[in-house]
Amino acid sequence: MVEITCPHCNYSKNMPAEKIPSNLLWIRCPKCEKKFQLPHYLNIQPQQVISIPTKNMGLSIILTVLFGPLGMLYSTIPGGIIMLVISFFIAIFTLGLGLIITWPICIIWGAVSTSSYNQKLLSNQSSRPEIFPQTR
Ligand SMILES: [Zn+2]
Repeated sequence: MVEITCPHCNYSKNMPAEKIPSNLLWIRCPKCEKKFQLPHYLNIQPQQVISIPTKNMGLSIILTVLFGPLGMLYSTIPGGIIMLVISFFIAIFTLGLGLIITWPICIIWGAVSTSSYNQKLLSNQSSRPEIFPQTR
């Protein structure tokens, strides 16, 4: 959210940054109906918002070690739900012994999805506009 303040009457309004078109330079104040120029920093903002924090691998492993399928919900929600259901039935049929097998699967699955999530995120960030070297 960015706060836009009218320089004429000091009326201010919060607007989500993504709703402001990047080519919008002038805005009309809804209160005094005077036009004013948008601060130039607003045009830079949408590009800065892209940086999404990566998931913490250590935290993902600790959560799955402690909570098994429940801890997987941090790294992968669909995977966590699948393993919750599987672990539940295995625990019933094996009187809980089967959890010795499903628990490590949760830890590995959680770690793998955390690492693939982070890799996808990093590759998206590095694929932003680049200047390609001329190979002529
Ligand atoms: Zn105004």
